[in-house]
Amino acid sequence: MSTPSSSPSALDPTIAHRLKRDEHGLVAAIVQQHDSGDVLMLGWMDDEALHRTLTSGRVTFWSRSRGEYWRKGDTSGHAQYVRAVAVDCDGDALLVRVDQVGAACHTGARTCFDAGGVLPAVVGDRPDGAGSSEPSGVPSTGVTTGATTGATTGAGVAGGAGR
Ligand SMILES: [Zn+2]
Repeated sequence: MSTPSSSPSALDPTIAHRLKRDEHGLVAAIVQQHDSGDVLMLGWMDDEALHRTLTSGRVTFWSRSRGEYWRKGDTSGHAQYVRAVAVDCDGDALLVRVDQVGAACHTGARTCFDAGGVLPAVVGDRPDGAGSSEPSGVPSTGVTTGATTGATTGAGVAGGAGR
């Protein structure tokens, strides 16, 4: 497997300074449809790929399998037009909001996670189930009166916010 170019990228040094790259010089880039919030795919960027993404209006990745830069849509027609790019708190991941043309996944699925499918997972519920606006961790006397019993059914309340 090739590694990204070792020559310096034109990426803004103040941005490059914030990145925490893996041993191959790469940062994970999560790609999200800007209006629906759908998580489309995950790709990898080195400094140059990020520079191209930030300056060209099109998303460019580093292909770990092919060892080359890869501008999404050049072969498939399924381009990703950049709407916004964010870096996470510790600099090891990027969030790229895009307008996706057609399928994001090379399989033809709209998203790579549609293509991969759901895994069996035990669904967890928060202990109090009440969705209190009080911060958790406030110690009580340990007395639970049960007064909130039935406040919520706990069903169908997952997610929904934050779109
Ligand atoms: Zn895919």
